[in-house]
Amino acid sequence: MARAISQKLHKRAMQTIVGGVNSPVRAFDSVDESPILVDSAKGALLFDVDSNEYVDHLMSWGAAILGHADDDVCRASIEALQRGSSYGLTNIHEIELAEIITGACESIEMLRTVSSGTEAVMSAIRLARGFTGREKIIKFEGCYHGHSDGLLSKSGSGLATLGIPASKGVCKGVCADTLIAKYNDLESVRDFFKVYRGEIAAIIVEPVAGNMGVVLPEDGFLEGLRSICDENNSLLIFDEVITGFRISSGGVQKETHVLADITTLGKIIGGGFPCAAFGASKEIMEILAPLGEVYQAGTLSGNPVAASAGKTVLKKLLKQNPYEKLERATSELVCDIKSFAAAANVDIQVNHIGSMFTVFFTDPPVRDYDSACRADKKKYSELFSHLLNNGVLIPPSSMEACFLSLAHLENNMLEKSRAAFKTAFCAM
Ligand code: PLP
Repeated sequence: MARAISQKLHKRAMQTIVGGVNSPVRAFDSVDESPILVDSAKGALLFDVDSNEYVDHLMSWGAAILGHADDDVCRASIEALQRGSSYGLTNIHEIELAEIITGACESIEMLRTVSSGTEAVMSAIRLARGFTGREKIIKFEGCYHGHSDGLLSKSGSGLATLGIPASKGVCKGVCADTLIAKYNDLESVRDFFKVYRGEIAAIIVEPVAGNMGVVLPEDGFLEGLRSICDENNSLLIFDEVITGFRISSGGVQKETHVLADITTLGKIIGGGFPCAAFGASKEIMEILAPLGEVYQAGTLSGNPVAASAGKTVLKKLLKQNPYEKLERATSELVCDIKSFAAAANVDIQVNHIGSMFTVFFTDPPVRDYDSACRADKKKYSELFSHLLNNGVLIPPSSMEACFLSLAHLENNMLEKSRAAFKTAFCAM
């Protein structure tokens, strides 16, 4: 597939945009490819500037659950835009968005909207610290919660060692309050509570992990986290930036009946615009300014165009309740991917739930960060390139999730994906 214009534009971008990209993974570095530059997208298809067409399983990293450029979402956002793109004051769309979210998510009585998932999580943690009067938080290896300083932390060596910065420019002191536990390992969490009794404000977790590839919580893991938090008067934060309105209208919480104290949402709730939120019970949310003493603010928070697009998406999801349909289509696709790989003698594991899945090139099951890291990244790169050249886009990193949208269920889109996966495994 010719990608000369993409390459030329990427070179141009490199002159003025760091690495030619405004978010690192877009550089395609980990799959040894040069990035494609997007011209447009509609439904399940993405078109690059060289006029190549791809069935998109990236879907704006999970934001586009209806498909790209959904007609109703376009109409709603254009209508909002024509009334002014931003006021810096409250508008009706953000109230309606909040009403829809609080109506759908049992543990959210009140919320605040912000402009990115990073901001939502950062604010949720400040809120948890303000509410409990404690400073330490527990996060899990392999879970990503945005790029705020305290969450760009990796494990030190052993229990007594606190988190250490995972990026230059992040202070040791900030990460010292972040404790890193192992996903699906309640003992690693309990150990921290023994050492830091009375000091832990919150546990934050992706209740279904999407950022080490899709990794599912094992039976009892989320329930265990809930109990540990209750026993220790700590708060449980579910980061549902990916899973909110993706796994079900009430996120993972509705499916598992394990309720969080604070929930973060993003991606889908903004209908493809910069919008995210954090929410909780009234008791917790009311300590936020202007009612309480935890400060949080944003010029573009509750932006009318984003809120209007977001509420349109959520209304459609609530009306259509497409989750079973999406799950079925994903399961069938995954089943075929596994049989294509088996026929080609390629060892893979495919983790999936709802409309998200990840192909890991490994034989043993993937249940945490260590097992995800053991998967063969070179083979993932090969798969990525084969698929790309056959008109299918998956995430340009082995530690991410592929997504289906409602648009993938139309016009034989998934047949194209199936054919490309089959060809790719045969060629590997
Ligand atoms: N939380 C999770 C679970 C995410 O997957 C992401 C981003 O992918 C974030 C938070 C950060 O969101 P954003 O990129 O909008 O800042």
